[in-house]
Amino acid sequence: MRLPLIAGNWKMNTTVSEAVALVKEMRGGLDEVANVEKVVCPPFVSLQAVRDLLKGTSIKLGAQNLYYEYKGAYTGEISPLMLAELCEYVILGHSERRQYFNETNEIVNKKIKAALKAGLKPILCVGEKMEENEAGKTEEVVTGQVKSSLADIDYTPSLVVAYEPVWAIGTGKAATSQQANDTIGLIRRTVSGLYGKEVAGQTRILYGGSVNAANTTELMRQPEIDGALVGGASLKATDFLSIVKQTAAVKKQ
Ligand code: PEP
Repeated sequence: MRLPLIAGNWKMNTTVSEAVALVKEMRGGLDEVANVEKVVCPPFVSLQAVRDLLKGTSIKLGAQNLYYEYKGAYTGEISPLMLAELCEYVILGHSERRQYFNETNEIVNKKIKAALKAGLKPILCVGEKMEENEAGKTEEVVTGQVKSSLADIDYTPSLVVAYEPVWAIGTGKAATSQQANDTIGLIRRTVSGLYGKEVAGQTRILYGGSVNAANTTELMRQPEIDGALVGGASLKATDFLSIVKQTAAVKKQ
Protein backbone atom coordinates (compact mmCIF):
# COMPACT_ATOMS: atom_id res chain seq x y z
CA MET A 1 0.00 0.00 0.00
CA ARG A 2 0.99 3.64 -0.39
CA LEU A 3 2.67 5.19 2.64
CA PRO A 4 0.85 8.45 3.45
CA LEU A 5 2.97 11.58 3.21
CA ILE A 6 2.45 14.93 4.89
CA ALA A 7 4.76 17.71 3.69
CA GLY A 8 4.95 21.20 5.17
CA ASN A 9 5.68 23.98 2.70
CA TRP A 10 6.97 26.87 4.79
CA LYS A 11 7.13 29.12 1.71
CA MET A 12 9.04 32.39 2.25
CA ASN A 13 8.50 32.31 6.00
CA THR A 14 10.91 31.94 8.93
CA THR A 15 14.39 33.36 9.35
CA VAL A 16 17.05 30.78 10.20
CA SER A 17 16.53 31.28 13.92
CA GLU A 18 12.75 31.06 13.55
CA ALA A 19 13.11 27.88 11.47
CA VAL A 20 15.31 26.37 14.16
CA ALA A 21 12.77 27.26 16.85
CA LEU A 22 9.88 25.84 14.81
CA VAL A 23 11.60 22.57 14.07
CA LYS A 24 12.62 22.17 17.71
CA GLU A 25 8.98 22.66 18.69
CA MET A 26 7.60 20.02 16.33
CA ARG A 27 10.47 17.54 16.09
CA GLY A 28 9.74 15.37 19.15
CA GLY A 29 6.03 14.93 18.44
CA LEU A 30 6.45 14.30 14.73
CA ASP A 31 9.23 11.80 15.23
CA GLU A 32 6.94 9.59 17.30
CA VAL A 33 4.25 9.22 14.62
CA ALA A 34 4.69 6.03 12.61
CA ASN A 35 3.14 4.99 9.29
CA VAL A 36 3.22 8.51 7.83
CA GLU A 37 6.17 10.02 6.00
CA LYS A 38 6.77 13.47 7.45
CA VAL A 39 8.58 16.14 5.43
CA VAL A 40 9.35 19.77 6.22
CA CYS A 41 10.34 22.20 3.45
CA PRO A 42 11.92 25.34 4.91
CA PRO A 43 13.52 28.12 2.83
CA PHE A 44 16.89 27.29 1.22
CA VAL A 45 18.90 29.26 3.76
CA SER A 46 17.59 27.15 6.64
CA LEU A 47 18.09 23.73 5.07
CA GLN A 48 21.45 23.08 6.69
CA ALA A 49 20.34 24.13 10.17
CA VAL A 50 17.10 22.14 9.96
CA ARG A 51 18.98 19.15 8.55
CA ASP A 52 21.28 19.17 11.59
CA LEU A 53 18.28 19.23 13.91
CA LEU A 54 16.53 16.37 12.10
CA LYS A 55 19.50 14.01 12.22
CA GLY A 56 18.52 10.78 13.96
CA THR A 57 14.78 11.44 13.59
CA SER A 58 12.25 10.00 11.14
CA ILE A 59 11.46 13.46 9.72
CA LYS A 60 12.59 14.16 6.17
CA LEU A 61 13.69 17.39 4.61
CA GLY A 62 12.65 19.03 1.34
CA ALA A 63 13.35 22.21 -0.63
CA GLN A 64 10.77 24.41 -2.33
CA ASN A 65 12.37 24.87 -5.75
CA LEU A 66 15.55 24.42 -7.77
CA TYR A 67 17.07 25.48 -11.07
CA TYR A 68 17.43 22.84 -13.76
CA GLU A 69 21.09 23.47 -14.62
CA TYR A 70 23.73 21.75 -12.50
CA LYS A 71 26.24 24.60 -12.25
CA GLY A 72 27.41 27.73 -13.98
CA ALA A 73 26.67 31.41 -14.44
CA TYR A 74 23.11 31.52 -13.10
CA THR A 75 23.41 34.14 -10.39
CA GLY A 76 21.15 33.54 -7.45
CA GLU A 77 19.96 30.09 -8.47
CA ILE A 78 20.24 26.81 -6.53
CA SER A 79 21.19 23.63 -8.35
CA PRO A 80 19.93 20.06 -7.87
CA LEU A 81 23.45 18.97 -6.93
CA MET A 82 23.58 21.51 -4.10
CA LEU A 83 20.24 20.28 -2.77
CA ALA A 84 21.08 16.62 -3.12
CA GLU A 85 23.68 17.03 -0.36
CA LEU A 86 21.11 18.58 1.94
CA CYS A 87 17.66 17.12 1.42
CA GLU A 88 15.60 14.32 -0.07
CA TYR A 89 12.51 16.02 -1.52
CA VAL A 90 11.89 19.10 -3.65
CA ILE A 91 8.57 20.81 -4.37
CA LEU A 92 8.32 21.67 -8.08
CA GLY A 93 5.73 23.53 -10.12
CA HIS A 94 4.01 25.13 -7.14
CA SER A 95 1.29 27.50 -8.34
CA GLU A 96 3.05 30.46 -6.71
CA ARG A 97 6.11 29.71 -8.88
CA ARG A 98 3.86 29.43 -11.92
CA GLN A 99 2.05 32.67 -11.07
CA TYR A 100 4.84 34.98 -9.86
CA PHE A 101 7.89 33.51 -11.60
CA ASN A 102 6.35 32.50 -14.93
CA GLU A 103 7.09 28.81 -14.59
CA THR A 104 5.59 26.87 -17.45
CA ASN A 105 5.00 23.14 -17.73
CA GLU A 106 8.11 22.96 -19.93
CA ILE A 107 10.25 24.53 -17.22
CA VAL A 108 8.71 22.27 -14.59
CA ASN A 109 9.50 19.29 -16.83
CA LYS A 110 13.17 20.32 -17.04
CA LYS A 111 13.28 20.79 -13.28
CA ILE A 112 11.81 17.34 -12.60
CA LYS A 113 14.33 15.72 -14.93
CA ALA A 114 17.21 17.56 -13.26
CA ALA A 115 15.93 16.71 -9.78
CA LEU A 116 15.59 13.00 -10.56
CA LYS A 117 19.03 12.88 -12.15
CA ALA A 118 20.48 14.28 -8.93
CA GLY A 119 18.62 11.69 -6.84
CA LEU A 120 16.03 14.10 -5.42
CA LYS A 121 12.37 13.14 -5.02
CA PRO A 122 10.11 15.66 -6.72
CA ILE A 123 6.71 16.68 -5.39
CA LEU A 124 5.03 17.86 -8.59
CA CYS A 125 2.25 20.39 -7.95
CA VAL A 126 -0.66 20.74 -10.34
CA GLY A 127 -4.03 22.45 -10.04
CA GLU A 128 -6.52 24.64 -11.80
CA LYS A 129 -7.28 28.32 -11.23
CA MET A 130 -10.69 29.51 -10.07
CA GLU A 131 -11.74 30.70 -13.54
CA GLU A 132 -10.68 27.39 -15.06
CA ASN A 133 -12.64 25.53 -12.42
CA GLU A 134 -15.73 27.66 -13.05
CA ALA A 135 -15.39 27.12 -16.80
CA GLY A 136 -15.43 23.34 -16.30
CA LYS A 137 -11.79 23.04 -17.39
CA THR A 138 -10.36 21.32 -14.32
CA GLU A 139 -9.87 17.98 -16.07
CA GLU A 140 -8.25 19.50 -19.14
CA VAL A 141 -5.90 21.74 -17.12
CA VAL A 142 -4.84 19.16 -14.57
CA THR A 143 -4.29 16.29 -17.01
CA GLY A 144 -2.40 18.68 -19.32
CA GLN A 145 -0.13 19.77 -16.47
CA VAL A 146 0.59 16.19 -15.43
CA LYS A 147 1.34 15.01 -18.96
CA SER A 148 3.54 17.97 -19.95
CA SER A 149 5.41 18.06 -16.64
CA LEU A 150 6.20 14.35 -16.96
CA ALA A 151 6.96 14.32 -20.69
CA ASP A 152 9.88 12.03 -21.60
CA ILE A 153 10.34 10.95 -17.99
CA ASP A 154 10.46 7.27 -17.17
CA TYR A 155 8.44 6.22 -14.17
CA THR A 156 10.20 6.50 -10.87
CA PRO A 157 8.81 5.50 -7.47
CA SER A 158 10.36 8.74 -6.19
CA LEU A 159 7.67 10.81 -7.86
CA VAL A 160 4.96 12.36 -5.70
CA VAL A 161 2.15 14.46 -7.18
CA ALA A 162 0.21 17.10 -5.27
CA TYR A 163 -3.19 18.28 -6.47
CA GLU A 164 -3.46 21.88 -5.34
CA PRO A 165 -6.39 23.82 -6.76
CA VAL A 166 -5.10 27.39 -6.94
CA TRP A 167 -8.34 28.79 -5.52
CA ALA A 168 -7.85 26.72 -2.36
CA ILE A 169 -4.27 27.76 -1.60
CA GLY A 170 -3.97 30.14 1.32
CA THR A 171 -7.64 31.11 1.05
CA GLY A 172 -9.07 29.07 3.92
CA LYS A 173 -11.44 27.53 1.37
CA ALA A 174 -10.34 23.93 0.88
CA ALA A 175 -11.80 21.74 -1.83
CA THR A 176 -14.46 19.40 -0.51
CA SER A 177 -13.15 15.94 0.21
CA GLN A 178 -15.27 14.64 -2.68
CA GLN A 179 -13.85 17.20 -5.15
CA ALA A 180 -10.30 16.45 -4.04
CA ASN A 181 -10.85 12.70 -4.24
CA ASP A 182 -12.40 12.92 -7.71
CA THR A 183 -9.62 15.05 -9.17
CA ILE A 184 -6.93 12.92 -7.56
CA GLY A 185 -8.63 9.87 -9.07
CA LEU A 186 -8.40 11.63 -12.43
CA ILE A 187 -4.69 12.31 -11.87
CA ARG A 188 -4.18 8.65 -11.01
CA ARG A 189 -5.88 7.63 -14.25
CA THR A 190 -3.59 10.05 -16.12
CA VAL A 191 -0.55 8.51 -14.43
CA SER A 192 -1.95 5.10 -15.38
CA GLY A 193 -2.21 6.23 -19.01
CA LEU A 194 1.46 7.25 -18.91
CA TYR A 195 3.00 4.42 -16.92
CA GLY A 196 0.39 1.69 -16.47
CA LYS A 197 -2.06 0.68 -13.79
CA GLU A 198 0.40 -0.91 -11.40
CA VAL A 199 2.56 2.19 -11.25
CA ALA A 200 -0.48 4.42 -10.82
CA GLY A 201 -1.49 2.27 -7.88
CA GLN A 202 1.90 2.91 -6.27
CA THR A 203 2.15 6.65 -6.92
CA ARG A 204 1.41 8.88 -3.98
CA ILE A 205 -0.92 11.75 -4.80
CA LEU A 206 -1.46 14.40 -2.15
CA TYR A 207 -4.07 17.09 -1.71
CA GLY A 208 -3.02 20.67 -0.94
CA GLY A 209 -5.04 23.84 -0.36
CA SER A 210 -6.08 25.14 3.06
CA VAL A 211 -5.54 21.83 4.82
CA ASN A 212 -5.83 22.37 8.56
CA ALA A 213 -6.38 20.49 11.79
CA ALA A 214 -10.16 20.76 11.36
CA ASN A 215 -10.50 19.30 7.84
CA THR A 216 -7.70 16.70 7.75
CA THR A 217 -9.64 13.67 8.94
CA GLU A 218 -12.40 14.13 6.40
CA LEU A 219 -9.91 14.67 3.54
CA MET A 220 -7.75 11.71 4.55
CA ARG A 221 -10.77 9.39 4.71
CA GLN A 222 -10.90 9.58 0.91
CA PRO A 223 -9.30 6.53 -0.68
CA GLU A 224 -7.48 8.39 -3.47
CA ILE A 225 -5.87 10.98 -1.17
CA ASP A 226 -2.47 9.78 0.05
CA GLY A 227 -1.56 12.72 2.23
CA ALA A 228 -1.26 16.49 2.10
CA LEU A 229 0.95 19.36 1.12
CA VAL A 230 0.33 21.89 3.87
CA GLY A 231 1.19 25.59 3.69
CA GLY A 232 -0.06 27.92 6.41
CA ALA A 233 -0.85 25.23 8.98
CA SER A 234 2.67 23.78 8.69
CA LEU A 235 4.02 26.91 10.39
CA LYS A 236 2.18 26.08 13.60
CA ALA A 237 3.77 23.13 15.37
CA THR A 238 0.59 21.97 17.12
CA ASP A 239 -1.51 22.18 13.94
CA PHE A 240 1.06 20.37 11.80
CA LEU A 241 1.44 17.65 14.41
CA SER A 242 -2.32 17.26 14.62
CA ILE A 243 -2.55 16.91 10.80
CA VAL A 244 0.14 14.22 10.85
CA LYS A 245 -1.46 12.34 13.76
CA GLN A 246 -4.93 12.44 12.22
CA THR A 247 -3.53 11.14 8.93
CA ALA A 248 -1.83 8.25 10.73
CA ALA A 249 -5.05 7.40 12.56
CA VAL A 250 -7.30 7.52 9.48
CA LYS A 251 -4.99 5.73 7.08
CA LYS A 252 -4.26 2.82 9.36
CA GLN A 253 -7.96 1.87 9.59
C1 PEP B 1 0.70 25.31 -0.39
O1 PEP B 1 1.36 26.32 -0.37
O2 PEP B 1 1.13 24.34 -1.01
C2 PEP B 1 -0.57 25.30 0.32
C3 PEP B 1 -1.35 24.27 0.15
O3 PEP B 1 -0.86 26.36 1.13
P1 PEP B 1 -2.06 26.46 2.22
O4 PEP B 1 -2.08 25.17 2.98
O5 PEP B 1 -1.70 27.63 3.08
O6 PEP B 1 -3.32 26.65 1.44
